[in-house]
Amino acid sequence: MTAPNLLFLAIDSLRADAVLGDHIPTPNIDALARSGASFLQCVSTSTTTTPSFSSILTGCYPPKHGVRGLQGYSLSPALETMAETFNRGGYHTHAEVTGPLLPETGILRGFKDARHRQAYRVPFFNWREPTLEKLASLEAPWFMLLHIWEVHRPYRSPPDYTKRYDKGGYEAAVAATDSWLDPLFDALPADTIVAVTGDHGEEYPGSRLERGINRAVREARRRLRVSRWAPGLDKRMGRDALGHGFGLNEPQIRVPLVISGPGIDARTVPEQVRHVDLMPTFAGLCGIEPPPGIDGRSLVPVLRGEPLPPEPAYMEAVGVKLGGGHIVGARTPGWKLLKPSAGGPALYRLNGVKGPDEEHNVLRANPGPAGELEGFIERVAASEVAATSGMTDAEEAVVEQHLRDLGYL
Ligand SMILES: [Zn+2]
Repeated sequence: MTAPNLLFLAIDSLRADAVLGDHIPTPNIDALARSGASFLQCVSTSTTTTPSFSSILTGCYPPKHGVRGLQGYSLSPALETMAETFNRGGYHTHAEVTGPLLPETGILRGFKDARHRQAYRVPFFNWREPTLEKLASLEAPWFMLLHIWEVHRPYRSPPDYTKRYDKGGYEAAVAATDSWLDPLFDALPADTIVAVTGDHGEEYPGSRLERGINRAVREARRRLRVSRWAPGLDKRMGRDALGHGFGLNEPQIRVPLVISGPGIDARTVPEQVRHVDLMPTFAGLCGIEPPPGIDGRSLVPVLRGEPLPPEPAYMEAVGVKLGGGHIVGARTPGWKLLKPSAGGPALYRLNGVKGPDEEHNVLRANPGPAGELEGFIERVAASEVAATSGMTDAEEAVVEQHLRDLGYL
């Protein structure tokens, strides 16, 4: 078989149940999932865009790649990026990205051709025509990273979609995005593997009532300046915050993952897989040796129906809403251990792909699983490389201005 093309579509803030559930119609992504592999339990490494992509594109957890937030970090030059891996394999590499994925972050290193576009105040799917043109001109085999922003807050969709849904706009944005992807999928040459995921999930209010309560809490925090006189209470109220980056709960950390194309049989995979596994998996599917020393592993055996021994997932929350704090965590299908920089650790009982309980901290009653996850977190933390990342003042200024434009600061 000749080397396949690979389209890697990363839909910002696309949480797992947006695709895996049946409450939002996503027929185009569903068709891909039916014809290929659909992973029911894929875990993102970070709930913030730039650190998440840094893990996806290097196969390494944040202590190794060095990107521990949106601001002030750039990708460790010691690591090979996915683009560099595909260059090594003789591929033509192209990236079409947006939001905070600026060249200054190091994320685009290796792409022979890369375009960063504005995220806001641009027409819905404004990237589609240039991307279709690009696709037609790419010489095979090619690898394209396409990062799109339509599902990111503030949610956007054409007006006829917004009218049909009533969930603060998120569900309309997902439905519209799926529908508008149709011409892109149609334009792909037959020998193309398509992978779709979200860089992290999303908290959004489920009902009109929840939305109203949320708005009232937000307003009260702001008007009463709760953070000044009762920081503890403010933090508790902040748990109702929407979006992503401020936690590692299931809606924020779980994402869909679909891989479909030549040589990939139809199957659903219930086992936990991680974003750090994508780089070695994509390389393996395209006949390229992944770089050594990475944290992820190839899921190619899983795509053949061969089980892999379970491995925990390491996670970090470093969002702006945490005010400089962070949460590190580890997850297995059964358990999740969270260690916030402020406050004590918590262990939650998950239940595979079924309902998790993230309300009751069961750490005291379950020292065994907690200890194992704690040890795993320590091993990942110990892999931290000397601070090789960091930005010049000029690069920092560029990133800061973009984050302001995006409304993060
Ligand atoms: Zn994101």
